[in-house]
Amino acid sequence: ETGRRLLIAGNWKMNGLRASSQALARAIVEGAKALPASVELAVFPPFTLTAEIGALLTDSPVRLGAQDCRSEKSGAFTGDIAAPMLADLGVTHVILGHSERRRYHDETDQIISAKAEAALEAGLVPVLCIGETAEERDSGRAYETLSNQIARGVPAGFRGVIAYEPVWAIGTGRTASSDDIAQTTAHIRDSLAAHLQTGDNLPPILYGGSVTARDAASILAIETVGGVLVGGASLKADSFLAIAQGA
Ligand code: PEP
Repeated sequence: ETGRRLLIAGNWKMNGLRASSQALARAIVEGAKALPASVELAVFPPFTLTAEIGALLTDSPVRLGAQDCRSEKSGAFTGDIAAPMLADLGVTHVILGHSERRRYHDETDQIISAKAEAALEAGLVPVLCIGETAEERDSGRAYETLSNQIARGVPAGFRGVIAYEPVWAIGTGRTASSDDIAQTTAHIRDSLAAHLQTGDNLPPILYGGSVTARDAASILAIETVGGVLVGGASLKADSFLAIAQGA
């Protein structure tokens, strides 16, 4: 135990109807009781479930997250959700710039930076995702890609969390190796320090990409890793809690 706090974040993506999601949240709340205070759990249900999952998390240390927000506070943006609306429901964390948002909603680093500013202004903790594609990695441009995403997508004065999610590892069952994660998160840390012009109080860096209970402990033992962002394995309470137990 290094005294680090670790965040175990469950991104439910576009999954879950009311009954099964409530059962999942209840089981996570129950399992969280056995975890040390240094381990923080957060769940990120789809917007349709934010309020009712939030109600189940009241009086629990499990944090309530959302999967996106818009940068404006209100207005004529049909179908979008603003950061103050999330804060109003007790949301504390918001995922921004997930590779699926970048891909399917054409989100750019500039858009993501503006969303992060809006989230911070609303009192939310942005969990800002960065990550290289397989092609960028194979052509030796992974670090350059990550540095560019940081330079363009992380606003000045950023106080949040960065999630390193290599696109080739998300939902593929191809977890990055511990060596890769250690080296890449060290690069990200240096890049954040240069960009934010601060040596201390750097944002924690999560790893995400096919994390399972099998590899969670070795990933969470890496000094530059501040937790994990979990997709598929967060949809079952047992596997999500087993990942947290690896912390
Ligand atoms: C994610 O989408 O944030 C993620 C890490 O997914 P998975 O764990 O399923 O790879």
